[in-house]
Amino acid sequence: MPEGKIVKALSGFYYVLHNDQLIQCRGRGVFRKNKITPLVGDEVVFQAENEQEGYILEIKDRKNELVRPPIANVDQAILVFSAVKPDFSTALLDRFLVLVEFNHIEPIICISKMDLANEEQMEMIMKYAEQYRTAGYKVMLTSSETETGIEQLIPLLENKISVFAGQSGVGKSSLLNVLRPDLDLKTNDISSHLGRGKHTTRHVELISIGNGLVADTPGFSSLDFININAEDLTACFPELLKASENCKFRGCLHIHEPKCGVKQGVESGVIPSYRYEHYVNFLQEIKDRKPRY
Ligand code: GDP
Ligand code: ZN
Repeated sequence: MPEGKIVKALSGFYYVLHNDQLIQCRGRGVFRKNKITPLVGDEVVFQAENEQEGYILEIKDRKNELVRPPIANVDQAILVFSAVKPDFSTALLDRFLVLVEFNHIEPIICISKMDLANEEQMEMIMKYAEQYRTAGYKVMLTSSETETGIEQLIPLLENKISVFAGQSGVGKSSLLNVLRPDLDLKTNDISSHLGRGKHTTRHVELISIGNGLVADTPGFSSLDFININAEDLTACFPELLKASENCKFRGCLHIHEPKCGVKQGVESGVIPSYRYEHYVNFLQEIKDRKPRY
């Protein structure tokens, strides 16, 4: 039986990409019985009726599942943060990084609107870029205005499902528009923002960019640490995780414990102090969270 990937769901049809062909498929009743609904991003087995139509027979196991936008098997998140307008914030970036790491999605940091940065701001961004690269992250510097750094983004998307994420107004849609000018996706100026209220149901679609697939709708709208426990947090900061190998105590949370590798790393400058501060703040936020029943 042929296999493919669902790239679009619309009006009860699932559009399955198979050998560069789009097959319009219906789901069979089996999904209702198993209480599983096919999602964009699903790898499926289907039966072809003819060259354009078929039925989905089986959904392969998912590696993950995003709620907004509803997509399965997301490989990576492009975290878009503007250099200015709005100003670059390491606190918000670290929050996104924790959520993405926790969901086993690979982050790529994309610092946008570089054309708007003055010399001082540029210097600051370069310093941060260096520090995040040292921590193990890929960092891209882009401008949709001058189309700088866009070419370098394309190979990173190859053979992956990617989702753009980041605050409103940082330039996510503008980036997608530069990458796929033919699609004319809406940017976030005031007029289009009004039309995109809570009641507008938007379907999600994976669009191809180079040899990769990218969600046409940005993700990660909720930024709280609902499912994350205190002991999960270290693993969401790669350089803290590495330094924690030197902690004397197993389960060290790097606050008051003696002989803590993380605190030594901060003191020696291997770990930037703001990264540690964000860890401490997030840990407190998790500890203060009301138990959910
Ligand atoms: P989104 O909410 O993240 O999708 O952000 P948009 O792509 O809608 O961009 C928000 C605003 O920033 C728009 O007015 C864009 O024209 C502007 N913008 C986006 N990218 C750039 C850029 O690289 N340089 C400059 N100067 N402006 C940009
Ligand atoms: Zn420790």
